[in-house]
Amino acid sequence: MNPSIAIIGAGVSGLYAASLLTEKGYDVTVFEARDRIGGRVLSHDGFDLGPTWYWQETETTITQLIERLNLPTFSQYTAGDLMLERQFGVIERHTLPPGHIVPSMRLVAGMASLTTALAATLPAGTIQLESTVTSIQQTENEVSIDLETGRSQTFSHVILAIPPRLVSRISFHPGLSETTKSKLANTPTWMAGQAKVLAVYDRPFWREKGLSGQGMSWAGVLQEIHDASQPGGLAALFGFFRLSAAERSVLDRDELNHRVIDQLVRLFGEEARQPREVYYVDWSSDRHTATVQDGEPLTDFPVYQPIALNPVWEGMLSLAGTETDSLFGGHIEGALRAAERAVEQL
Ligand SMILES: Cc1cc2nc3c(=O)[nH]c(=O)nc-3n(C[C@H](O)[C@H](O)[C@H](O)COP(=O)(O)OP(=O)(O)OC[C@H]3O[C@@H](n4cnc5c(N)ncnc54)[C@H](O)[C@@H]3O)c2cc1C
Repeated sequence: MNPSIAIIGAGVSGLYAASLLTEKGYDVTVFEARDRIGGRVLSHDGFDLGPTWYWQETETTITQLIERLNLPTFSQYTAGDLMLERQFGVIERHTLPPGHIVPSMRLVAGMASLTTALAATLPAGTIQLESTVTSIQQTENEVSIDLETGRSQTFSHVILAIPPRLVSRISFHPGLSETTKSKLANTPTWMAGQAKVLAVYDRPFWREKGLSGQGMSWAGVLQEIHDASQPGGLAALFGFFRLSAAERSVLDRDELNHRVIDQLVRLFGEEARQPREVYYVDWSSDRHTATVQDGEPLTDFPVYQPIALNPVWEGMLSLAGTETDSLFGGHIEGALRAAERAVEQL
């Protein structure tokens, strides 16, 4: 009989690990807490509310995977000037020198087409949604996992493809060492404190004014704005917030929307006043991504690296997930590389 592998988490990392293991003939089950796959990858009507970009020049794993899965791609729109708001309401227009922007790529229909395509490589029934893992224990040469629903199942090996800080919500028998627990707790989840807002328009009116849709602000609610339009489809601008999770939490949704739209008007003109739709996702209040600690703004890019588990768990339990990759930790590239590492270790 093929060894049976449980993967906890149906984000990019868990799905890619499942796909690689299925290809190698393992019997795989993916347990996912949410009622959807993708984790931090989230696209609504093709607009990305989680990750948007990958970088072809440096990120070879995702580039090759996208080619292999035959997913249509396009370049991030960056032609035109950038708008800068150094002081509230004082707007500067800047022409960036050629070569100043590192070119990034996007997926037609959004980044969720990657996770959907990965899931499509798995046999029916591999992914179990609404299946939160609460406890993992060793039995005779096997690992038994318990779900919130009370159900248990036994496997030869378990791969945890969840943010390290969320591992502390799972109880382990035998327990993890204090060193491991502290490493897990001190590894911030990338972008977990952020929120993304996306305003949809009929046409990319900023492009008509020679603007790229890029905006930077040291004074508004949004810190960074980009063109999020779809090729041949609706136009959109998206922004990352300058306000921290705590500052956002005291504003109601209408007030937040109002401040966002006001800022888009200041930067790109009156046409920004009436979006067709505004999408908003605050990742800091998403319990399957963030812990309270993640609400604290990050001051530096965290140092990510593989996290060793107690020797007693060796060969039975491993960690994947983007936060365990030392080269591209935080990015989708890191999530994919971590999956490859976990699979190779098996
Ligand atoms: C707003 C935002 C913008 C970003 N922009 C970019 C970008 O442009 N480019 C880029 O490369 N990266 C970007 N990132 C980062 C990128 O999203 C992540 O690197 C990647 O999605 C992480 O994948 P993962 O599989 O490691 O983790 P996750 O996507 O977090 O997946 C973990 C999964 O585990 C599940 N889970 C957790 N606990 C349990 C449990 N106990 N039982 C069962 N399931 C559980 C969760 O529900 C989740 O589905 C961005 C992230 C955000 C939030």
